[in-house]
This record gives sequence, structure tokens and C-alpha cells, in this order.
Amino acid sequence: MPARQRTSASPSANLSATLVWFRQDLRCFDNPAFAQAMASGQPVYALYILDQGPHDPHPLGGASKWWLHHSLARLQADLAQLNVPLIVQAGSAEPVLADLVEQLSISKVFWNRLYEPHAISRDARIKADLKARLIEVQSHNAQLLVEPFTLATKGGTPFKVFTRFWEAARAQLTIDPPLPLPKPQLGPNKISGEFPALADLHLLPVRPNWASGFETVWQPGEAGAQAALDRFIGSALPHYAAERDRPDRPSTSRLSAHLHFGEIGPRQVYRAVTAQIPDRNADKLLAELGWREFAHHLLYHFPDLSHKSLRPEFDHFPWEEDPPALTAWCKGLTGYPIVDAGMRELWDTGWMHNRVRMVAASFLVKHLMVPWQRGAAWFWDTLVDADLANNAASWQWVAGSGADAAPYFRIFNPILQGEKFDPEGHYVRQWVPELRDMPNGFIHKPWEAPIPPSHYPPPIIDHGAARARALSAFAALPKTSK
Ligand code: FAD
Repeated sequence: MPARQRTSASPSANLSATLVWFRQDLRCFDNPAFAQAMASGQPVYALYILDQGPHDPHPLGGASKWWLHHSLARLQADLAQLNVPLIVQAGSAEPVLADLVEQLSISKVFWNRLYEPHAISRDARIKADLKARLIEVQSHNAQLLVEPFTLATKGGTPFKVFTRFWEAARAQLTIDPPLPLPKPQLGPNKISGEFPALADLHLLPVRPNWASGFETVWQPGEAGAQAALDRFIGSALPHYAAERDRPDRPSTSRLSAHLHFGEIGPRQVYRAVTAQIPDRNADKLLAELGWREFAHHLLYHFPDLSHKSLRPEFDHFPWEEDPPALTAWCKGLTGYPIVDAGMRELWDTGWMHNRVRMVAASFLVKHLMVPWQRGAAWFWDTLVDADLANNAASWQWVAGSGADAAPYFRIFNPILQGEKFDPEGHYVRQWVPELRDMPNGFIHKPWEAPIPPSHYPPPIIDHGAARARALSAFAALPKTSK
């Protein structure tokens, strides 16, 4: 029998109370819904629902579940310091909320908004239902700098070009001072009733524990997010513009999972970066936050983004379902060292450097001509920062099928990309130990070495032939659509 949060009746059980429904905003500081709840003058309860089931088109991937477990554990501890109990529940959000509202005499429910299509329609239904029961509902923005419904082109249409989007977003951006950490409440510090413990959500892998490598790399939770931001500002930001493409260096913030789970908000990052001397490094980092905003804008306005090419001509592309090639790619056994290093980094740590994500994704969709959706699904399962908007927009960008995408005919050469961005091969040697002793001159093309490696596969496809095949498939697409 799993451990349960045992409770006696809380002294405040008969008072009206406020419920904060945490989702992708797992932080106490600068959290608008939580701040409002704590200012409501009523006892506050916190809730997280693992809302997974057959109705959910995007159940959490394994790496995300690992992160979520640790993030919720941190949040539960942080909230306990403020005398706010965090209830965790698994199940469909609608009945879970309806029951809790009764059980805890809730008169106000507050949350921060989400932008995925199924979450938008679910939240609208829940809002209507709660309001019909005369419960006050408030929703806030904790996740974005500029919400997608506040921004449109002069013609009133959604933006499809990043530079125009970001220009417009920055022009209307106001960054208020952060909301302070709420003071501890006097009660309730207990929950009436019996609720599952975090372990009952079964978020962690058990047999085998494939996430053992994650623990040495990540510190999920609000404190870990702040530490990552401080580290980045202090060390990598001053070189960000020049070095952000180098996977062999600690050149980027590694904030993506913290941002996805809302352990830190983009406004906190924006404030910290703009507090530095303005320069091209700061501008470049802000532009990356801009790509995150753009991805959310696209998903909101084009709700099929996660599964359907935005440019419909790509429905006619002769994609190849090729299970053995897909498996070789997933396992980091393509024979192209930079691709394989990235795929193994992903498996071992739940993260991959952005430049390598682009090269590995391009290899799958252009060299192997496997549909981009297969790669997106693998990333969804294995990334700790798996994010529906960022993942879908980025895959479509690489495939050439998305908004403001890389042109299809620009095909990354994995050898040249490796030589340019990992010139001494440090990154490849870290993740592909079979190549540890390979001389620098051959580290990105080991098949040309006088003594090719014995335990590393030859390329699964010849670069030149693959490039020619992809270009001719692209040339055959309907003319009007290129
Ligand atoms: P930094 O360079 O420090 O950037 C700061 C923040 O800006 C990131 O944390 C992230 O939130 C945002 N950001 C940076 N680049 C992008 C981008 N191209 N698009 C959107 N936001 C960006 N990012 C995800 O968060 N989740 C995903 O599921 C995801 N899937 C991707 C799939 C592919 C095929 C590709 C090419 C990119 C994907 N990205 C995704 C974008 C990007 O690779 C990661 O956000 C970045 O590598 C995270 O590392 P970082 O935090 O050190 O980034």
C-alpha cells in the first residue's frame, strides 16, 4: 500500500477556501495565480493534477515525467514553508476539480494559463462549469512575455515571420517588477481527507532506471532554475553570441526544462538579462526567448502544428517510413559522429545542444527522409524540456514545412557541421567513446581514417547521395507551393 498523506480534519475545514491549480508554473516566486490566491484572505490549498488518459493527445514522455516528479517534490517542500499543502491527484481534471471543490469548500479557483489546444478547450469547459456553480475563477499569465491573442499583423492575421513577430512583441512588451514571495499563511497546514502521495503518481522509471544519468546533471525546481540562471549570467552570457553554437562548451543557459515547467518565468529571465550591460549577447539570448514566444504564438493560432505540416505541399513529400533507419538514429548509431553524439547525449541526460538538435533533426528528415513527426515523437519522449510548442515549431522549422522555416534545399552536412562547431572533437569524444582515440582530422569522418574504428558503424547513408535524393524529392513537389 503506497504511502498516503494522512490527515485529520483541518481546523479550517468549514471555511471557504481558495484553490491554486498549479500546471506549468511550478514556482512560488513571481507566480501571479499563487500571489493572488495568497492575497485572497481565505485559506489556500494548492493542487497539481496529473491529467493523463485516453483523451490526452500528448501524454507526458518518460523524461518529462522524471523531471515533473522532482519538480513537484521541490514545490511541495517550498509550499510547506508557506503553510500551503500541495495536493497531487491523477485523473481527468474535470471530475478531480469538481470533487475537490466540494470536499474542501472551495469558493475561488486560480490558475495560470496554458496555450496547448487541448488545454485551452479543457480549461474553458472547467471555467464554465465552476462559474455555473458560483465559484470565482481567475486565470493569469505566468508563462509568456506576450500572450498569443494580444498580437497580430497589421492585417489582423497571426505572425508567420519571426523577425516581424519579435519586433512587434518587443514594442508592446512591458515587464513589471516581480511579484514577491507570499508570506506564510496561518492555516491550513493540513488537508482534510486522504490524497495520494507524490510517489503514487508513478512518475519515476523503476526497472530499468534509465534516468540515473539525469540526477548528476539537473536540479529540477525553483531553486535549481534560479541557480542555472545565475550561473548562466555569470559565466556564459558574456560569450553567448559567439559561442552558443558550440556543443563542446557550456555555452547556453540550460534553462529550457525550468522554463517549460514554469520553475522560472520568462519575465524573470528577461529582467536578469536586461539588467546586464546591453550588448549583442543579451540581444541574442532575448531573441531565443523570442523564438519560444513565437512557437507558442504559432501553436495557439495553428493548433494542428504538432502533427500536421504548416505548408500543405509537404503532405505530398515522399516521406519514407524506415524503421531500421529510425532505430539507428534513436540509438546514435548512424555512423555520423555529431549526430550520434547528440542522440546519445539526449538519451543519457534528457537534453541535447540546440545546434546538434538541428543537425540530428535535419539528418532524420533530409538524409533519411523519415517524417518529421517520428523525430518529434522521439524527442517528446526523451527530452526533459519536451514542450509541445517549441518541439513542433522547431521540427517544422528544420523540415522546411513550418513558418519562417529553413529552406528545404539547405541541407546540413553533418561532417562540416561537426568540424565547424566541435573542431577538436571534444563533444564527440565525450558521447561516442568508440572514437576516443580517433585523430582530430578524422573525428567527424572516421570511415576515412587509415584505421577505421572497429566498434563504430560506417555511415548508414552516403551524404552526397542522400543530399541528391532529398533535393530531387523536393524539386518534384507541386510547383506553386515551393
Ligand atoms: P538557450 O540557448 O540558453 O536559450 C534560452 C531559452 O530560449 C531556452 O531555454 C528556450 O526556452 C528558448 N529557446 C532557445 N532556442 C529556442 C528555439 N529554437 N525555439 C524555441 N525556444 C527556444 N526547446 C524546448 O524548450 N523544448 C523542445 O521540445 C524543443 N525541441 C526542439 C526540437 C528541435 C528539432 C530543435 C532544433 C530545437 C528544439 N528546441 C526545443 C529548441 C532549443 O533547442 C532548446 O530550447 C535549447 O537547446 C535549450 O537549451 P538552453 O536552455 O540552454 O537554450
